[in-house]
Amino acid sequence: MSHDTIQVLLVEDSAADAYLMEKFLADEETINLVHVECLNEALDVLKEKPFNAVLLDLSLPDSRSIKTVQQTHSTNPEIPIVVLTGLDDEEIAIAALREGAQDYLVKGEINRAWLVRAIHYAIERQQHLEQLQHLNQELMRSNQELEQFAYVVSHDLQQPLQVIFGFARLLENAYSDRPTESANRYLPDIIKATQHMSQLIQDLLNYSRVGKSAQSLEQLDSKAILDQVLSDLSPSIHQSKAVITTNGLPMITAHETQMVQLFGNLLSNALKYHTPEHPPHVKIFAEVHQNEWLFGVQDDGIGIEPENFDQIFQIFQRLHHRKEYPGTGIGLATCKKIVENHGGRIWVDSTPGTGSTFYFTLPTL
Ligand code: ADP
Repeated sequence: MSHDTIQVLLVEDSAADAYLMEKFLADEETINLVHVECLNEALDVLKEKPFNAVLLDLSLPDSRSIKTVQQTHSTNPEIPIVVLTGLDDEEIAIAALREGAQDYLVKGEINRAWLVRAIHYAIERQQHLEQLQHLNQELMRSNQELEQFAYVVSHDLQQPLQVIFGFARLLENAYSDRPTESANRYLPDIIKATQHMSQLIQDLLNYSRVGKSAQSLEQLDSKAILDQVLSDLSPSIHQSKAVITTNGLPMITAHETQMVQLFGNLLSNALKYHTPEHPPHVKIFAEVHQNEWLFGVQDDGIGIEPENFDQIFQIFQRLHHRKEYPGTGIGLATCKKIVENHGGRIWVDSTPGTGSTFYFTLPTL
């Protein structure tokens, strides 16, 4: 037997069908067929000897219908299965594919070429599937590594920054009675820069934490979440004389801290990017659409050009200079990560000079 011979296990209790398969494959020098008549025997043989593919009849003396596939696949997830079905069994055949079979052949319609092709394709498909699964695992692993890296870096950067900040404040105090000294000109900028960097690190930490929390999903009142956010933001609400209204905020299934962050980021942006002409009016509403909640945070602020609608959800992407509007460009990227982590979508609709509405969805579950 050559090294490249394909070992195929035929599991078939009908002698006539088995004879036909053997006959079809008799001239195939690269395929070696081993025949058994029941599932238990097949599972035993598969344990003892490596096979490249299984031709599996679904109605066996010791197993019927879809269970035959389930059992074969769960004991040998890597082996490609080609199911052999009767003429009127197409529904079962489709169910078999869902359970991990690679292909099916309808008995009575099989010919030699089809059989050989089905065996080769099933083996190829299984190999691609395994490669895909492997790549997927690699991707997940490197993503986790990256998040862990961002977390560790931002955490460790915070500490030396606090030292710089502390000494800069001490120097500022020490020079407070000497207004003409050049130190007095430079220190406020040093302090401002360290504060900005500290905010950047804090925002990066929050961003990298999304998805890592051990907290489980819970039933939450989104109105209560918003009340907490409004209370946290009360200084800027007072300062800007903002008017905030809510409508139809429902119970949701979500991570509490992430929801506080999500509503907090959207609302603080709605307050921050307002026009100087009038105090901000912000509406927060929710509607049910099929199997998801659609939330909206609507403002009457400066608005956004349509060509920037996607860009603003990317990390560090800002449309304004920090002197105009302070910020780190991480808020909306964090919102996107939170919403997608909950199985939803987020987007913006806006007219420059009129205002913006940020929409996001959450599954109703
Ligand atoms: P930050 O506010 O820290 O800059 P974000 O990620 O929250 O970062 O927002 C990214 C950019 O999107 C902002 O710099 C701003 O240009 C724009 N933006 C966000 N929210 C609004 C809004 N409500 N109105 C107008 N522009 C907005």
